[in-house]
Amino acid sequence: MIDVNKIRKDFPILRKKVNGQNLIYFDNAATSQKPSKVINSISEYYFNYNANIHRGVHFLSQEATDQYELSRKKIQKHFNISKLNEIIFTSGTTHGINIVASGYSSILRKGDEIIVSALEHHSNIVPWQMLCERTGSVLRVIPIKMEGSLDINAFHKILNGKTKLVVVNHVSNALGLINPIKDIIDMAHKFGSKVLIDGAQSAAHFKTDIQLLDIDFYVTSAHKLCGPTGVGFLYGKELLLNEIPPFQGGGEMISDVTFQKTTYADLPHKFEAGTPNISGGIAFGFALDYLNEIGLENIANYENELLKYCTNKLNEIDDIEIYGNSKNKIAVISFNVKGIHAYDIGSILDKLGIAVRTGQHCAQPIMDFYQIPGTVRVSFSFYNTKKEIDIFILGLEKAIKMLR
Ligand SMILES: *Cc1c(COP(=O)(O)O)cnc(C)c1O
Repeated sequence: MIDVNKIRKDFPILRKKVNGQNLIYFDNAATSQKPSKVINSISEYYFNYNANIHRGVHFLSQEATDQYELSRKKIQKHFNISKLNEIIFTSGTTHGINIVASGYSSILRKGDEIIVSALEHHSNIVPWQMLCERTGSVLRVIPIKMEGSLDINAFHKILNGKTKLVVVNHVSNALGLINPIKDIIDMAHKFGSKVLIDGAQSAAHFKTDIQLLDIDFYVTSAHKLCGPTGVGFLYGKELLLNEIPPFQGGGEMISDVTFQKTTYADLPHKFEAGTPNISGGIAFGFALDYLNEIGLENIANYENELLKYCTNKLNEIDDIEIYGNSKNKIAVISFNVKGIHAYDIGSILDKLGIAVRTGQHCAQPIMDFYQIPGTVRVSFSFYNTKKEIDIFILGLEKAIKMLR
């Protein structure tokens, strides 16, 4: 069970007024708010032990290194990863995807195939298109069905011996649908393909067991799970990470540098060139601690309640179309009101202190599929309440009246 009133006290920003109203933050799929525990861990680092890591013999450097590496261990435990050196700190999901896409330039040959899904965020489409341009590989797409879920039969037909990589998100940021990644991974492995899972939208809402699912590459961002922006991690099976070349050259990622030849450091440092986001990495660990204190199962149950509550209320309003109607979804609702532009609804809600997202949600192919310019998206977190949903529904009804 979740004590939402107690939890809300952990998030200082929720006390904020926007346009004279209590802030109602329903844009959690874009980024979540941060609890004091996480915010404080950042100032604590700068107040008390700011130093560069992995290099100094001195006291502060050791303390900073210990804290940063402790975060790596927290990630290992949370996601059930076999080896610490399979965890690469990144600046976020986008960075992680680009490390793999860039590395695969040296593995893919002309005519090889990469499969993406039609539900992807642009950051899980564009790097693969760029990789195909560099290598002459072919990008193939798993289509979606009208209700928004992936057409798994079509996936089976596209998959073949030339498929080298399948890349798919665990949860779609635009529609909130949970994809059947276990089936996708097992099927891809039968054809010898590797699989990259984009966990940016799922990690805040339920636990992912990387070893159990036999995931080859996994990426996520801290900022969607109560952590800071500018940090995330890439997981790759040790064997696979050893196969691909470094993404960036620089300090930290080398073992020996001469002008004749440079040799690279071992994992994970081979992919961690330069001074990282140290405070961010440390705060990432605190964010995982925070989520685990509440419990991911409690979070999922409570958010699911909010999802049902809001979906029912929305369905009572005339002319509302919700996109992505699957039972398997997180607390994200993407919708339109017939004859009204999503942006206009968003603007009026903003005047009422309610933050929602409008537009394409970095997933233009989905909008093209439904032949719409965009949607209004509300996305909940465990610190949202039914009372906030009531206020949102009243605001939406008011907006519809004004815009009709
Ligand atoms: C947010 C998001 C991304 C991009 O994450 P960044 O933190 O901006 O790198 C990628 N995929 C999905 C599904 C997302 O929700």
